[in-house]
Amino acid sequence: MKEFDLIKQYFAQRGHVRKDVILGIGDDCAVTKVPDNQHLAITTDTLISGVHFLSDAPARSVAYKAVAVNLSDLASSGAEPAWISLSLSLPSYDENWINEFVNGLYELTEYYSVQLIGGDTVTGPLALTITAQGFVPPDTELRRSNAKPGDWIYVTGNLGDAGAGLDILKGEIEAVGEHRDYLINRHYYPTPRVMAGTSLRRTANACIDVSDGLVSDLGHILKMSGCGATVHVDRLPVSSALFETVGAQQAYRYALAAGDDYELVFTVNEEQRGNLETSLTNANVKATCIGQVNGYAGQLDLKLYDEKYVLNESTGYEHEF
Ligand code: ADP
Ligand code: MG
Repeated sequence: MKEFDLIKQYFAQRGHVRKDVILGIGDDCAVTKVPDNQHLAITTDTLISGVHFLSDAPARSVAYKAVAVNLSDLASSGAEPAWISLSLSLPSYDENWINEFVNGLYELTEYYSVQLIGGDTVTGPLALTITAQGFVPPDTELRRSNAKPGDWIYVTGNLGDAGAGLDILKGEIEAVGEHRDYLINRHYYPTPRVMAGTSLRRTANACIDVSDGLVSDLGHILKMSGCGATVHVDRLPVSSALFETVGAQQAYRYALAAGDDYELVFTVNEEQRGNLETSLTNANVKATCIGQVNGYAGQLDLKLYDEKYVLNESTGYEHEF
């Protein structure tokens, strides 16, 4: 299969078509129109086989997750997704694999009316880079740096499921039946919190998505905002699947330190709290208050039923160079 045939067959003639795409796949550049009175939010994420996903991960998951993590970045900035581009490095042509990959790629783009507008296709080790672009009204983008002492800290959905799913796949923990399927699914198919992100624009002070683990990612908000926080470990939202599979103590550890959940962690002041809960209810997203920001810069205190809680393991994934 030749490069151009592959592009034509799998990428150029499929997927959602948007009116604001003036020139899509097939030319040297894509040309698009940004609506009046909107700013552009742009993000890129790379996923490499064996580093960011298991080398035997289903093709559908590889593509789905690559889209999800990019849409998650847009969501945590409060942006509404519009376009993605895809740079794909493939070791060989495997028709079944690429069909599944493309199915996974278009699932979220269809759901969120996002168009694939271009990319690059090369031969090489399996890896993909997606760039996603979206819109955010001027001066409403959510930043990591804007948390204030007194803000309440919230998290969407549940924490820890994706990390447990990965450990099940690696054979490090055991799970059975529905719980096993559910946790593995949360690892392979994370939910980008797109609606939650846009609904937080005018109410939240700071926001980030949990890619490396709660302690690590909330740490970024605190550091960039010059604040500290108390988090109540017993209030962390954990699924019954996780709780029943590993027990409370392990569930807390997954919720604090495991990555890849792509839930949003955000802070909101007392005054906006009511509005925020209403808008998240309207967006049909569960959000749980897990603690409060304070002025003790750089300090994250964990509490378990009001006793000091010590997390003795590494708290987030960082690439070493
Ligand atoms: P160029 O050499 O001018 O960069 P390419 O030959 O790489 O163009 O790509 C031809 C067209 O196909 C371009 O419009 C490019 O954006 C698009 N394209 C290539 N690979 C992909 C892909 N994996 N997904 C979507 N579009 C792609
Ligand atoms: Mg090219």
